[in-house]
Amino acid sequence: MIIQLENDLKEQDRQSLINKVKTEGFTITEVNTQVGAYLVCISKNSSDIRKIGSLPGVVDVHIVSDSYKLVSAKWKLTPSSILLDDIQIGGSDFTVMAGPCAIENEAQVDSIAQHLVANGVRIMRGGVFKPRSSPYSFKGLGKEGLVMFYNICKQYDLKIISEVMEADQIEQMYNFVDIFQVGARNSQNFNLLHALGKTDKPVLIKRGTSGTIDELLQSAEYIFSSGNEKLILCERGIRTFENASRNTFDINAIPILKKKSHLPVIADPSHGIGIREHVPAIALAALAAGADGLMYEVHEKPEEALSDGQQTLNFIESTDLLKRIKQLYDLL
Ligand code: PEP
Ligand code: MN
Repeated sequence: MIIQLENDLKEQDRQSLINKVKTEGFTITEVNTQVGAYLVCISKNSSDIRKIGSLPGVVDVHIVSDSYKLVSAKWKLTPSSILLDDIQIGGSDFTVMAGPCAIENEAQVDSIAQHLVANGVRIMRGGVFKPRSSPYSFKGLGKEGLVMFYNICKQYDLKIISEVMEADQIEQMYNFVDIFQVGARNSQNFNLLHALGKTDKPVLIKRGTSGTIDELLQSAEYIFSSGNEKLILCERGIRTFENASRNTFDINAIPILKKKSHLPVIADPSHGIGIREHVPAIALAALAAGADGLMYEVHEKPEEALSDGQQTLNFIESTDLLKRIKQLYDLL
């Protein structure tokens, strides 16, 4: 059960409400976000919520039986959306984020930024802290690279999404990103998720390579219940027995996440299939399946990219994809 509290509830009234709910047999987690105040109440017994709904200080009460609660669509029927100035993520808009897998150098960032601006993309992606399967692969330019990325994006009025791998990188990155990305490998790094709950910047959280849909939602719940409601879910493909593609993009996850949660859902077709020529097909499928947006990898010369070149679109392919996305969006 979720009890939504009045935001300006006095401490004394809050305590007396908590005591009353406890006597009904609930254990309570108090959640205070930048937006609202909630009591997340767990009990094995069913309770008459009419009794609770009429208590002073209560805005609303909802029964949510899932293991995730605050990210569930069962209490918040209207989809949530995030605003980055005039850029909306979620709601009726379809938001595109694109850029290289990794930030490499000024010339690379500049050419991709120009490509994005020319094609109407407002959010640029690019990793400076790169989780790589092999310890010998390029692991990113770190904070210095992020500052360079930021300075170039500022000139083009582009917003930035970049991956945070550890809790102590949050502060270092804070002034230089608009959205923190949690990668597939950190999808269940609960310390990191908890720390991101303390920031006021949006967080895009990717599904783990062997994570279920409910596990992704529970990971998002960690961030929300730690204080940050600005969340974006991302399907990026899972590991299955199939080895004809790098990962298996789980198209099912899009409508299921949209039904289960009020959070915006973004598709990452680049990691989802891992094969450049098929990225556009998966991107269009994700839009048709109801995704709120797209994040894909693009590079002027994908064959020279320091990471994930095999799944990275070149500028011609990227322009063509954006055209087709617009056509399909208008059609739908
Ligand atoms: C990335 O976005 O470049 C990345 C490393 O993605 P993932 O965490 O999905 O593997
Ligand atoms: Mn990548």
